[in-house]
This record gives sequence, structure tokens and C-alpha cells, in this order.
Amino acid sequence: MLKNGRAAPAPQQTTRRKLRGPDARAGNRRLRDCGRLIQAIDVPVAVVGRDLRVVAANERMQALLPKMTTGRNVMSAFSPTGLESLLREVIDTGAARRNVALEMPVDSSSNPAIPALRYRASVTPVNIGDRGIELVLSVEDITADHMRDSQLMESRRLVAVGEMAAGVAHELNNPLTAVMGFSQLLLRQDLDEVTRRDIEAIASEARRAGKIVDNLLSFARRRENAMRPFDAGHAVQRVLDLRQYECKVNNIRVVTYFDSTTPRTMADTHQLDQVFLNILNNSIYALSSSRGHGTITVGVVAVGDRIRITMADDGPGIPEDILSHVFEPFFTTKPAGKGTGLGLSICKSIIEHHGGSIRVDSRSHKGATFIVEIPVVPVEEAPEDVSKMEEAAAPSYTMLRILAVDDEPSVRELLTRALHSVGHEVATAADGAEALRMIYVEDYDAIITDMKMPGLGGAELYQCVAGLKPELSQRILFLTGDVASADTKSFLEKTGKPVLTKPFTLEDLRKRLDAFARAKYERTVTAHG
Ligand code: ADP
Repeated sequence: MLKNGRAAPAPQQTTRRKLRGPDARAGNRRLRDCGRLIQAIDVPVAVVGRDLRVVAANERMQALLPKMTTGRNVMSAFSPTGLESLLREVIDTGAARRNVALEMPVDSSSNPAIPALRYRASVTPVNIGDRGIELVLSVEDITADHMRDSQLMESRRLVAVGEMAAGVAHELNNPLTAVMGFSQLLLRQDLDEVTRRDIEAIASEARRAGKIVDNLLSFARRRENAMRPFDAGHAVQRVLDLRQYECKVNNIRVVTYFDSTTPRTMADTHQLDQVFLNILNNSIYALSSSRGHGTITVGVVAVGDRIRITMADDGPGIPEDILSHVFEPFFTTKPAGKGTGLGLSICKSIIEHHGGSIRVDSRSHKGATFIVEIPVVPVEEAPEDVSKMEEAAAPSYTMLRILAVDDEPSVRELLTRALHSVGHEVATAADGAEALRMIYVEDYDAIITDMKMPGLGGAELYQCVAGLKPELSQRILFLTGDVASADTKSFLEKTGKPVLTKPFTLEDLRKRLDAFARAKYERTVTAHG
């Protein structure tokens, strides 16, 4: 049901106009018949006289428009723009008009998400005995359909904007990798204190930018429903990081208490991110649009066999009369263009899908507290968690001959400098085709390749190497700026190969290469008995 303040009243008895005078009995009989006839119709219908007064209205009509009672001017019961001229036109021409779209503006303070009620009306002239032309008016409320259509258009627009944002974020990964990597290389040198501090600031800001890009990418992508090991504290922190800037500029202090003993569970990380982000955004909006400052307190604790995530603000709160509506679709008190009223209803369906619950506790002027609980279920580790296995491997100092393939000159340069600095030998190629030519004539211990390159990309290069030198295809490390794009993700899952997401730290790179170095060491030991 739409939350626009229009409650459907209990249907009343059909009302009929009583006639007086000589033809009273025959006339009243006709009216009774007419009233009975329209009762049988399963859509809202009224009979309207030439004077535009209601002759009879069925129960469906009265449920939709309670003021549509006998004797009343139809326009005082139902006043969408253009109804009067529509009725007069049918009286004048005697021709029916079907499925005419009508719109009735509503008071925007009751529900800004519904600027107008929409109807589809049909008017048919009928000639009932000596009463001359009367009109049969049928009305259908199509507000919800209309809202769904515009919602669909809006969500398509958002998808397009999201894809664009993802594209921009993706492009930022290469320069960020270079900024992060080169500043780390500089930090390995002997530096005076001031220069060191400056470069440390560059490195840490680049890491921060990388985190923002990563968060942006993960929110912009549409994902399939996937239950994975889930750490609620990490997820909430990720969302807080993403909105850190908004909180800062709106003078909002964020206080967190994460119980470190909270167990992990299985959940769809990205769906839950969406839940926390929506609740947080609502709090930021409530605080910034009311007092212009405030505190948001976020807690993650284990309560029995559930994980409880509490997000509370000290904003204006939610008045009691609307508290029970906030999880309903299309309910919003935000001005047009600011809210869709879908956020919390989506949160509710996501949380219920996880077997959990979401509730709100609030009073006017006392802030709002949203409490999400999800069950703790045993965590199933993904068997192909290659990165963890590699991290566990003992570092080895075997020198590697590495082929680094990336179309970005700055990333190639960084890889060369970083790998040289730890004693490896490096050759570079600007794309998959050039790399293949080099692999054909030279032997390498490892290949580090970008996934997305013009011409022959990382996936195609892997396939060619698998045909040419199957052994070497086991020693490929992929670099990607977009690990979760559907194609990249399914490729990496299928091959189970290690992957490093840009921007990466030199430490990350070293850890991945340790596994290859160790494998080379073992090969050498085996070969020499
Ligand atoms: P939207 O944000 O598009 O309005 P939601 O479903 O996310 O849709 O929220 C529905 C409504 O719940 C909001 O319009 C607002 O009236 C109320 N609400 C949600 N969170 C808060 C909050 N922290 N403080 C005050 N009101 C809130």
C-alpha cells in the first residue's frame, strides 16, 4: 500500500439518489437496478449524471475514493487535472473515451516521494430510459505502477552512473600503483628526516586514495549473491572509511566499539556493505540536515549465536507515527530527488535473506538507533585461497628471472625497479603479444602480467603460455585493477592463479613472489639430487 496518507476505508453501502414526483417509483427502480448492476463490476465504477453529480458508485469506487457518494458533484470527490473537461467532452460528443491518464497533485509534506497520484479513467456515455445521457466512469489507481516504472528508470540511470564511476576508479589504479610503489622505493634510501616524513605522507595518502578507489569499485559493481566468510567489524569499518569525508565536512564524530572476539560468519559481503552504507547515509543526512553536527556510534558485538551491529545517531530521531513505516517500500520523508524510500526496505530484505533481523529504536529529538542482527554460521573457507597459502610460505631468497607485462609504462618501470632492488632479474613487455615473443625465445621463472591490456590481455596470454610452455603457465602472477569484474573474476577462479590487486604495496608483491622463489629453490634442489 502506498504511504501517502490515503487509508482505504471500510467499503460503505452503495448510495442511491432518491427521486420524488410522478415517475418516482419507476425512476427509483432504475436507480436501484443501476446501483445493483455496478456492484457486480470488479473495478471502481460510478454513474455520473449530465449535471456531473454522482448517481451511484460501487463499493470498489468508494474504497478508492471515499467521497464518491450519491448526489455529490463528482469533482468534489475526485479532482484530477482534466477530469471535468473529459466528462463534458463525452457528454457533448456522445463518444466514449478510454484509458485516459489523469494526475492529481498531492500535498508534498505528507510524502515527498509521491508528488502526484496517477489514475487511468474511462468514461462511457449510456442512455438509461428517459433520463438522457449519463456517464459510466471507471477509475484505476496506477500510482504504484507509475512509481515502479520511474524507479526502474532511476535504477537504470544509477547503474549507468555506477559503471562510469567504476571506469574512472579503475583508471586511477595505475597511477596510484606508481605513486605508492615509487614512494616506497624512495623510503628504502637513506633520507634526511624531513624528506622521509614528506615521502611517508605521499605513500600514506596514496594508500588512502587506493582504499577509496577500492571501496568505490566494490559499490559500483553489481554482484551475484555470494555467501563468503564475513567479518562484520571489517565490513563496518570499510563503510565508515568510505564516508569518512562526508562525516568530517558535516562535523560528525564517529565513535566505534568493535568487540574483537566477534566471530566471523557466512554472508554476502557486498549486500551487507549496502545495508551498513544505507543506514550510515541516513544518519549523516539526518544530522547534516538538522543540527549540522552530531555523533554516530557504531558497535559490533556477539550476542549468543548472533552478531549485533548497532548504528546510532543523536540526530532528530524518527517521530512515533512514522516509525512503523520506515521499512516499507517508497516511504520517505526526504524531499524529492533526495530519497527514494527504498533503502531500508532493501536493507530489510537483505538481512532477512541472511536469516537475521533489523529494527529501529527512536524517539523524536532523541536520535535513531538501527540494530541489525545476523546469525553466526560456521565459516567455510574457500579452498583456493592462494594468497593465504603464499603468505604462510617461508620467504626464500632465490633470484628469479621475471617477465613483467603491463601496458602502463609507469607500472613497468616500478616493477623493474622494485624487483631489481630485491635482487631479481627483470625483462618487460608492453602487451601480451610482445610477451609471447619473448617467452618463445627466453626462459623465465615467473611472469607478472596485467589482466587488461590492449590486444592480447592477461587471460589470452595465459592460454597461449599454457599451450607453449605449460610449466611456466603455473608461475604466472596476475595484476588487476578490477578483480571482481565478472569476466576477470570467473577467469581467476577457474585458473586459481595468484592475483595482486592494484594499487599494491611492494610488500604484497614480495609475498607473492616468495612462493615462486621457493618453488624454484625446490626445483633446483630436486634437480641436483
Ligand atoms: P530514503 O533514505 O530514500 O528516504 P530509506 O528507506 O532509507 O529511504 O529511509 C526511509 C525513511 O526513514 C527516511 O526518509 C527517514 O524518514 C527515516 N529515517 C531513516 N533513518 C533515519 C535516521 N537516522 N534519522 C531520522 N530518520 C531516519
